[in-house]
Amino acid sequence: MLFNKIVDVFEQLEKITSGNKIRQILADFFKKCPKSELKIATYLLSGRISSEYKGVITGMSNSLVIRAIALASGKDKSLVIKIFKKTGDAGLTAQKLVGRKRASLSVKRVFQSLHRIAKVKGSKSQDIKIIILTNLLKIVSSKEAKYISRLVVGKMRLGAGDRAILDALSIAFTGSKQARKALDNAYQVNPDLGDLAERIAKKKIKGITSVGVLFKRPIKSMLAQRSKSMQEIFNKIPGEMSVEEKYDGERMQVHIKGKNIRIFSRRLEDISQQYPDVVDCIRQNIRCKSAILDGECCAVDKKGKLLHFQTLMQRRRKYDIEKYIKKIPVCLFLFDILYLNNKSYLQKSYPERYKALKSTVKRQTSCVRLANRIVTKDPKKIQKFFKKMLKKGSEGIMIKSLAKDSVYKAGTRGWLWVKWKKEYAKGMVDTFDLVVVGAYRGKGKRAFSYGSVLCAVYDKKSKKYNTFTKLGTGFTDKNLRELPKILNKYKSKEKPFNVNAKKEIKPDVWFKPRIVVEVLGAEITKSPLHTANGLALRFPRFLRFRPDKSARQATSIREVVQFYRKK
Ligand code: ATP
Repeated sequence: MLFNKIVDVFEQLEKITSGNKIRQILADFFKKCPKSELKIATYLLSGRISSEYKGVITGMSNSLVIRAIALASGKDKSLVIKIFKKTGDAGLTAQKLVGRKRASLSVKRVFQSLHRIAKVKGSKSQDIKIIILTNLLKIVSSKEAKYISRLVVGKMRLGAGDRAILDALSIAFTGSKQARKALDNAYQVNPDLGDLAERIAKKKIKGITSVGVLFKRPIKSMLAQRSKSMQEIFNKIPGEMSVEEKYDGERMQVHIKGKNIRIFSRRLEDISQQYPDVVDCIRQNIRCKSAILDGECCAVDKKGKLLHFQTLMQRRRKYDIEKYIKKIPVCLFLFDILYLNNKSYLQKSYPERYKALKSTVKRQTSCVRLANRIVTKDPKKIQKFFKKMLKKGSEGIMIKSLAKDSVYKAGTRGWLWVKWKKEYAKGMVDTFDLVVVGAYRGKGKRAFSYGSVLCAVYDKKSKKYNTFTKLGTGFTDKNLRELPKILNKYKSKEKPFNVNAKKEIKPDVWFKPRIVVEVLGAEITKSPLHTANGLALRFPRFLRFRPDKSARQATSIREVVQFYRKK
């Protein structure tokens, strides 16, 4: 198949916003796409060159692509930069300056070239990446150059999100959206659109219902619902519940196969190299042939006392790992099991899973333990446990259903798990993970930094970041010094295309949505100023940076609306 067939789809998608039409265009394409190329075509249509969790990226920024465009077109670099500044888009810049009239490159060839770029590492890698891209841009049409450049920088600007692709796969291969639920379930344990496309094309619904759990393929973490009142929790979770300490650390999904152990983060990244101590600890204290365990890792002091999340974050590093293992020991608190000895436990109830989890723990030691918990339905006991946890310095408690249907809902935030935090006890609304999209220069004492930042919530449907609050309190001097260092990398000359803000909102600087901050809020109110469904967070207070969260994992607009309705 020629790459320009995919370009045709991109061109059509760019012109429309209607979800139904997007799905239909994609479905029509999938029906015609040769089966042998369906996998790579699906990745490309999702704007990537691999599955999200494998995270293969070309590692080229706009400035490197600009250099490749200059070389491929023979034009002066200053002219390329001028056009880039005008369009703000590497794709449109490439389209204007390079490209033959006719081109006939295959999808495979383009895909392979993008992977070759991704593979180049080490010194001179930038130059080599530029050469590969230049050679590619020299032999494609200008329209193809547009989308290749966008794929290279990872900004497709299209409406074909993962959901639309899943819908379209269902329509293309089963004639309707009937397979969507099965596809959704499969996607949570196998977040790989290309692989799912191949499976449904080959064996229809059967191909995806048979998707199993695999070693080293991370499963999306189950998430917890937030609640306004204890009463609501009792209504939603009748009967006995598992009331657990809510640890303030980093989520870890541990994959074990014999002596092989890999650890994945909440972002599905392989973080095993950062935690060789946890890997060793699991090897020595967990007994199984194979398993996938779920837990929270916390920094602890020599006596086993839990330390702050920020301390743990110092373990997120590429260098001096051994030194920091000694400096900041950690303990993994296990609370769930998803797979044991070649059997998936996702569809089993929590009591069954917990029993299996317990059976794998040979010894509880200073580096691995079962999460602290009680099983009860007595509100008084829950309150007592909650207070005890707060006294200990925990964030609060997690309340989990023990009912027959208390399965592991991968990637889902539902009422089987509910979080109850100290902010509720203080009468504050809750904490929100917000994405910084702009900043206002500091004045007076804060002249060396930003005075406040503009924060947004994520809208999964439109894939846009909608402004929600302006945050100026809670920053320590250290935080203020860190702000420009952390944010300036993501400066954008104009409002990023995926930020949705009213005209009246004019920060001094815009940022691409990358950095997530945890913010405590007092109240959600209606506000004509913000685009988060007309809602805004009042009296926000900065708590900490959240480097463990990607912008897409920030609080969603849906959660904010739900929260507001419950008031
Ligand atoms: P979320 O993970 O729900 O998007 P978040 O990362 O901001 O949100 P919280 O909302 O504070 O975190 O709470 C949920 C998180 O708490 C879980 O993702 C997990 O990392 C952590 N956690 C700590 N203790 C437990 C526990 N006992 N059971 C489940 N999760 C726990």
